[in-house]
Amino acid sequence: MSNDPCPFCIIVKGEDSSARVLYRDQDVTAFFPLMPATRGHTLVIPNRHVAEHVDLTDAESRQLGSAVRRTAIGVRSAVSPDGINIIQSTGSAATQTIPHVHFHVVPRWSDDDVSLVWPDRAAEDPDAQDQTLALVRSVLPFGSSDVSPEDRRQHLSFIQAVVTRMSQASSSAKTWLLPIVTLTYGYAVTKQQWVVAVMGLIAVIIFGVLDANYLKQERAFRKLYDRVAVGSAIPAFSMNPALAGPAGAKVNYWPDWEDLRSWAVAPVYGPLLLGGIAIAVWAHCQ
Ligand SMILES: [Zn+2]
Ligand SMILES: [Zn+2]
Repeated sequence: MSNDPCPFCIIVKGEDSSARVLYRDQDVTAFFPLMPATRGHTLVIPNRHVAEHVDLTDAESRQLGSAVRRTAIGVRSAVSPDGINIIQSTGSAATQTIPHVHFHVVPRWSDDDVSLVWPDRAAEDPDAQDQTLALVRSVLPFGSSDVSPEDRRQHLSFIQAVVTRMSQASSSAKTWLLPIVTLTYGYAVTKQQWVVAVMGLIAVIIFGVLDANYLKQERAFRKLYDRVAVGSAIPAFSMNPALAGPAGAKVNYWPDWEDLRSWAVAPVYGPLLLGGIAIAVWAHCQ
């Protein structure tokens, strides 16, 4: 608190004898403002001096939210309004005047003097809205406080298991391919059968695409792992790697160029492909 005494803190301490206090417990206080906008207009505040709503703790936020709801129920039964606005404003641009978090519970009547006007057009076009959505989603602080550390560790070990399985699948693809290539290419060379070399080539392509796809999945799950590890907004135990990608990203099973040219794919399948073509051409010309 600064030198300027906060008027709301004075009410919390019970030092403002003119304040019309509706309710006070150890966490929150509810009172009528100096100039009620409508009959029954009430402010609900945390007893601790916190300037901005975002700086409340989770516990304070829950206490305040519950007090706001209970206040609205009381006010509604007492003055029977046509509707109720619950208003929280943070920052002067949003019309906050007292730097102590408060919720306005404002009973409304169709002919009252309050005016709240929403614009009649969207602030952003649909594409910009998608980008904004992705941006906000990427920095949401969910997960850090809502997921227990044990659950997060468990989640990470599930993802780690998938990553391990994908890299095992990738190496077993190579293990399966090797005898097929040796057999087909060897046969093609000794018997000068170009068709058999082409069969070997087809196997190389199929296994190469399969392997690159394992790699793509592994990469996606590693990304998911990183996002969960830093406590990003990934639902607990979600195994959907698309959540770690850009919003609206399509999931398909075709490897990307990035996967095909990676060290685990290109240097292995590339020479096998070129060798197979060379053998097929050579056998064909015999
Ligand atoms: Zn205060
Ligand atoms: Zn206010």
